[in-house]
Amino acid sequence: MTNDGQNAVLKEKHARDVIRWAIETFGSRIAVASSFSMEDIAVIDMAVQVDKNIRVFAIDTGRLNEETYECAEAVRRRYNLIIEWVFPRTERVESLVRERGLYSFRSSIDARRECCAIRKVEPLTRALLGLRAWITGMRREQGVTRSALEKVETDSSHGGILKINPLADWSQDEVNAYTSERDLPVNRLHGRGYASIGCAPCTRAINSGEDVRAGRWWWEDPEHKECGLHGR
Ligand code: SF4
Repeated sequence: MTNDGQNAVLKEKHARDVIRWAIETFGSRIAVASSFSMEDIAVIDMAVQVDKNIRVFAIDTGRLNEETYECAEAVRRRYNLIIEWVFPRTERVESLVRERGLYSFRSSIDARRECCAIRKVEPLTRALLGLRAWITGMRREQGVTRSALEKVETDSSHGGILKINPLADWSQDEVNAYTSERDLPVNRLHGRGYASIGCAPCTRAINSGEDVRAGRWWWEDPEHKECGLHGR
């Protein structure tokens, strides 16, 4: 079936039904990507209910907040999961920081993309090797770069495997309600006004009324606010 056809079938389905369909379709060749945001933990919670051995991977860029590690540990313990942490290539990070310093990403969009390419995109490519699909916690409301997000998409940056976004049509209120109903672990950064979880030096709390992704690379224009994990 085409993605359009599959999206038509899944349009009115609850996220847990989308996840069930994806896991039953791709078996051991699907995994959940997690940055330990509320959305990602909701997705993990639903996926574990379908398959307690679901693969979950996370990228440790080397610049994550302490709160994110604590949250990851809470998730690991709650579900007895083996979180597949993926790290950037040591030699590439060493070259980056020796040649350009620790904050090169603040100097230009290209420099920021270089850092994201080394710390996020290359590890993601390794994490996806051998998979036929991956599941994210992305939502359309998360900004202009995600407004056309579909529940099933082809990830042309990673060999044409499928990217499944079961929360694509969820609002923040729905995420909050699911988190509360299931008493899920919550990254403490959310309680400090962080709508989005990312690297510590590139993510800040947002003010009331600001776009959900306003706290990511706040020195850049909104249309540039993707790191390469989900296209630009
Ligand atoms: Fe580097 Fe910032 Fe991208 Fe993290 S979000 S990889 S620190 S540029």
